[in-house]
Amino acid sequence: IEKKQNELQKIELVENLAASTAHEIRNPLTGIKGLVQLLSEKYNDEKDQLYFNVIQQEVNRINTIVSELLLLGKPTAHKLNTYCAKEIIKEIEPIIHSEANLKSVDLSIQFAYDRLPISCVKDHLKQVLLNLIKNALDAVNENGGQVRICLEKKGTNCVIKVADNGIGMPEDVLNRVFDPFFTTKETGTGLGLVVCKRIVESYGGKIKIDSTIDKGTDVEIILPLVLDKN
Ligand code: ADP
Repeated sequence: IEKKQNELQKIELVENLAASTAHEIRNPLTGIKGLVQLLSEKYNDEKDQLYFNVIQQEVNRINTIVSELLLLGKPTAHKLNTYCAKEIIKEIEPIIHSEANLKSVDLSIQFAYDRLPISCVKDHLKQVLLNLIKNALDAVNENGGQVRICLEKKGTNCVIKVADNGIGMPEDVLNRVFDPFFTTKETGTGLGLVVCKRIVESYGGKIKIDSTIDKGTDVEIILPLVLDKN
């Protein structure tokens, strides 16, 4: 028991640290971003522009990492509300369709259920789904790539599934996907799935990954349904 308590304290410490440093980093970063933008308008020879582009890309990358760290900070501190899974997917539909179109990926969304009430922080669950869909889009080929999103009801759980027919994962990758900063991508942060797991578990849910090399990957978000009170 004592060991478990120690672990929990450690997690809490890391969460607090992540959230507070993330805020501290974000503010000066906004300043840098604005000034680089100004400078890039002033120095417009080709080579300078190249450098400015790199700076801007790197700043954006730090911003992404910081946003993910912020999400890692105490998801339980937010107030949970009840939403239907379908309405949350509906709200991110325009973004994911445009991302899929950019890569010419065939994206399909099936809403088999209208009413699957789940308890969550809406923006956080949206972020979870966006992370999973981004991974799916990264994993598929431009030719013949397919990403399927569907809703299922399994017992007293709502299952949101994101499936792709992409590169899949070998066992050693699959074993490490939830390790902070583990990534196989050149511009990855290795925090996407860590954030997903953290958020989903804070709702009493689970995340399950099934993957086969060269066949594809299925990721399931399993969330307890909010049962009717009557
Ligand atoms: P990132 O996307 O920044 O690398 P993630 O935590 O989201 O961070 O993912 C960690 C790693 O898991 C990825 O680098 C990739 O190797 C693997 N992965 C995640 N989703 C998929 C997927 N749908 N298909 C294949 N590999 C995946």
